Amino acid sequence: MGTERIGFIGLGIMGRGMSRNLLDAGFEVTVWNRTPERTDELVAAGAARAGSPAGVAAVSDIVVACVSDTPDVVQVLTGDDGVIHGAARGSLVIDCSTVSPDATRMIAARLAERSVEMLDAPVSGGSEGAAHGTLSIMVGGPAEQFERARPLFDAMGSAVTHVGDHGAGQAVKLVNQILVVHNMLGVSEALLLAAAEGLDLQRTLDAVSGGAAGSWMLSNRAPQVINRDWSPGFTIDLQQKDLRLVLEAFERLRLPAVGTSLVAQLYATLQRRGLGAEGNHALAKALEHLAGVEIGR
Ligand code: NAP
Repeated sequence: MGTERIGFIGLGIMGRGMSRNLLDAGFEVTVWNRTPERTDELVAAGAARAGSPAGVAAVSDIVVACVSDTPDVVQVLTGDDGVIHGAARGSLVIDCSTVSPDATRMIAARLAERSVEMLDAPVSGGSEGAAHGTLSIMVGGPAEQFERARPLFDAMGSAVTHVGDHGAGQAVKLVNQILVVHNMLGVSEALLLAAAEGLDLQRTLDAVSGGAAGSWMLSNRAPQVINRDWSPGFTIDLQQKDLRLVLEAFERLRLPAVGTSLVAQLYATLQRRGLGAEGNHALAKALEHLAGVEIGR
């Protein structure tokens, strides 16, 4: 089906589902992951495997990256053996990681020196959205490259929005992350009260989820909290990476980050306790610790 050959770098919680959806949509996909065993599942499903990011780029028209943090994107795109060393003129790089908007503009400029195009396309919707192809994707970069990449975005997401030039997708993602963590704080505080009141927590969720208080975090993460399932859709360590990016933007713009600073401090207590690899919904544990109240079973 797809006419452009796709490369995919970074088969973590998100990349695994996203690359699988590209494969299932009929694209020819070549994958690379730093820990090679993590490519086995995709290769078994029909993807090809390359030996480096440059090797992926050499056999791809469009390369998608979904790795952790800004230095990691810099490494896989412009470092030794990076995409830039294998990409042909006119090829396109799509970065779906959440990273610094400023760094994104710098990377786009470096790629442009080699006539390689770039879109920043951070995503939202959790591991579930990645697996089901229902991500929200916020895209920065040239409009014609956005149109070129649309079949890929449609395979990976259900709400795809072109929001501006290079870096704008990352800036919108920071806006998204403020909303996510405030939501999770609200979910946590609400469940704390429900638990302390001795309410039936599942019935409480049933009662409030469909009304004005409903949200993605409430529907997807509150049940995990009440079941005390702390496995990550999105780890606390990555959440803190995003909040660092948000707080840097607030500082640069001389804005007060009252709520986001508070949530970042609460997550820091969890990292201090060695819980950074748990899901971001474990924010509830920070409130439990303050209150001496346990939510759920
Ligand atoms: P993850 O499960 O921790 O996976 C991270 C991926 O990045 C792995 O494939 C890892 O390779 C790779 N990686 C990290 N540093 C690297 C480096 N220096 N060189 C090469 N590869 C490197 O994380 P994730 O949850 O999939 O998140 C990936 C990105 O999506 C992050 O920017 C995150 O903020 C964003 N995001 C995540 C979610 C979510 O709900 N999980 C939602 C929206 C956006 P190894 O396998 O070798 O470790």
